[in-house]
Amino acid sequence: MASAEVGDDVYGEDPTVKRLEETAASLLGKQAALFTPSGTMANQIAVLTHTARGDEIILDSEAHIYFYEVGGPALLAGVQTRQVTGLLSENGPAALKQSLRLQDIHFPHTSLLCLENTFNRGGGTILSPEIMREMYSIARDRGLKVHVDGARIFNAAVGLGVDVKVFAEHCDSLMFCLSKGLAAPVGSLLVGTQEFIERARKYRKALGGGMRQAGILAAAGLVALDSIDRLAEDHANARRLAEGLSQLPGLRVALEKVQTNIVVIEVIGRQSAADVVRLLSERGVRCGASGPTTIRMVTHKDVCAEDIEYALQVAKEVVA
Ligand SMILES: *Cc1c(COP(=O)(O)O)cnc(C)c1O
Repeated sequence: MASAEVGDDVYGEDPTVKRLEETAASLLGKQAALFTPSGTMANQIAVLTHTARGDEIILDSEAHIYFYEVGGPALLAGVQTRQVTGLLSENGPAALKQSLRLQDIHFPHTSLLCLENTFNRGGGTILSPEIMREMYSIARDRGLKVHVDGARIFNAAVGLGVDVKVFAEHCDSLMFCLSKGLAAPVGSLLVGTQEFIERARKYRKALGGGMRQAGILAAAGLVALDSIDRLAEDHANARRLAEGLSQLPGLRVALEKVQTNIVVIEVIGRQSAADVVRLLSERGVRCGASGPTTIRMVTHKDVCAEDIEYALQVAKEVVA
């Protein structure tokens, strides 16, 4: 970062940002990419670029774009969200078909389907390339574009042991985060066709995401993209953590949903999730309550196998 060659990226003159964008586009098998300060901004730019005011977009009822982006689709793009239960599951194609509207003067125009991979509120589950292909085909037949919130798409690829391109080929645009498991300090990328990215670049500027000397950030992003394989360690750590926690009285873990680096724990005893989170935190094990009785833990590059054993020991004492 300290020795990154920089320029004014608003004018497309930062060579390090350009190199990051080219690397991302090529890794994902898309024509072009756009560097953004955050994943939320990249998702919102995608919604803005794919839709017109008054349109409807289809997404899962637990999707990040719907749940955690401050109503951005309504606030920024002026679209309404259609929340579909089970969209990001094996039943996704059937659920999608059911949610598609017929032509009718009363109905909004549906222009976009948003998928999420891995599925954060689902517990880091992977949406298979086969299901994505099926949904992309249904969407295309009805004239919908498909955007993937792929904040953790590399976790999906490493989790299944496949090239990330097998996911990216079943969508028009995809966003991924450099600052989650990939462990860079800042930034996300939006990928798509050249034409799409050119229009997206205008929206990034409108939202205040055009940056000067951003190469210092892009340099860290390039390091992140060079260290994708190590995500497998996070997955192994999450698996060990989940298996250990599932043995403890008062806690329940749906082990089949632990497919990547996220572990969702259900607190079934008398303690609330917030109580357990506080007690763990006092002993240096930090996590979050994702509901009144659920806790979410995430593994990453700064958590090693010994840390997992320590966390399990503390958890055992806390729930005892
Ligand atoms: C973190 C995350 C985002 C948004 O990224 P930010 O950089 O925090 O804005 C979007 N989608 C999912 C699934 C995420 O986990």
